Amino acid sequence: MSSQHNSYDVIIIGGAIMGSSAAWFLAANRDFNGSVLVIDRDLSYSTAASALSVSGIRHQYSNAVNVKISLYGTEFIRNFETSLGNDPDVPPVSFEERGYMFLASADKAHILRENQAVQAGCGAATVLMTPDEIAKKFPFYNLDDIELGSFNGSGEGWFDGYGMMQSFQRMARKGGVEYIANEVVGIARNGNQIVSVTLKSGEVIGCGILVNAAGTRAPLVARMADIALPIVPRKRSVFVFDCHQALGQPLPLTIDPSGVYCRSEGGLYITGKPPENDDDADLNDFDVDYAQFEQDIWPVLANRIPTFEAIKMIRGWVGHYDYNLFDQNAIIGAHPEVGNFMFANGFSGHGLQQAPAVGRGLGELIVYGEYRELDLSELSYQRILANEPFIEKAII
Ligand SMILES: Cc1cc2nc3c(=O)[nH]c(=O)nc-3n(C[C@H](O)[C@H](O)[C@H](O)COP(=O)(O)OP(=O)(O)OC[C@H]3O[C@@H](n4cnc5c(N)ncnc54)[C@H](O)[C@@H]3O)c2cc1C
Repeated sequence: MSSQHNSYDVIIIGGAIMGSSAAWFLAANRDFNGSVLVIDRDLSYSTAASALSVSGIRHQYSNAVNVKISLYGTEFIRNFETSLGNDPDVPPVSFEERGYMFLASADKAHILRENQAVQAGCGAATVLMTPDEIAKKFPFYNLDDIELGSFNGSGEGWFDGYGMMQSFQRMARKGGVEYIANEVVGIARNGNQIVSVTLKSGEVIGCGILVNAAGTRAPLVARMADIALPIVPRKRSVFVFDCHQALGQPLPLTIDPSGVYCRSEGGLYITGKPPENDDDADLNDFDVDYAQFEQDIWPVLANRIPTFEAIKMIRGWVGHYDYNLFDQNAIIGAHPEVGNFMFANGFSGHGLQQAPAVGRGLGELIVYGEYRELDLSELSYQRILANEPFIEKAII
């Protein structure tokens, strides 16, 4: 597919949640009247993480900036239709504020305490709970080996992430953003300036600013401009199961000390866990690892929630995290030297919830040259050049 023009003020590579959030924030900003082109190699988004996610939002992070990003995301998602201008083409995203429950054994309880202090300092409603307090509220857990839980039922939960992406795309288009199906295969630099992208079709399109929102392919895109991104694809299987015996109430997104997570999904449940051998994934490998469910997940579920001894797995799917090996945090904003090349990459399992704040932040950087609503500069590429990791400890 060809573009209408041979040059744009802003070109965004990748039109899934990050690219389209940024595109919409630009289109909606009255101080911006530039042209925006979004290029995606697959406008069906069939293998994009944005379409294969579990779509949760939590405030329970170890870094204040990630807590603040999600607090912003919660308000945006809670008021989604209003956030996108109350347009009749924006359906609700069905936010279910059921909370996240992190469970810790004695050796890890201090991590929950430290993280809760950071979260409370940012205004998040996370509370620490003793096993007795947890048992009163959620009587279905086996808490024999649990020392402490941290729970936040206000602003954490899950929502229709795919619907959010579609609304960003629809409203960005309405605001004048052009989308084309094509693959960026080359990037031309003139010194420290990006000047154009080359498409698989052979077309060369000039740009004022280039945004890398290419998900797991972001390092391939960066390499086209001779820039290294420490990001790798990591395969994640997600399983849906049924349990005939009711728990009596929805299951918050529960994170077992083993790393297994599980939550309600309508009348069913979804679950997953980082694989034991978490090697870099083949970008075309979407085969579900059913053995992982049988061997590593079900026994943990049955131990933690004895009702889950009798469950039936219904189906599974695979998505890929864009995992930042350097410090497990996102890389956001302009390259310190190649200043018109911007990143929105390395989100692991939290990019959907971060998309409103990151899209807004990129829009502000492009229009004003600075962050205004929320300072995201701790997540800049600069830390990679300086070799100063900014570790996020609460990665699921
Ligand atoms: C199993 C799973 C569960 C998750 N659960 C959650 C969760 O509960 N909460 C949460 O917040 N996040 C979650 N995430 C993470 C979240 O889904 C991602 O962080 C987010 O969707 C990343 O969005 P993106 O737009 O950066 O990348 P993607 O959605 O991967 O999109 C990248 C796009 O770039 C395009 N592209 C790539 N290269 C090129 C090129 N050269 N030219 C043109 N186009 C290109 C691709 O076609 C694709 O459409 C989960 C992810 C997975 C896999």
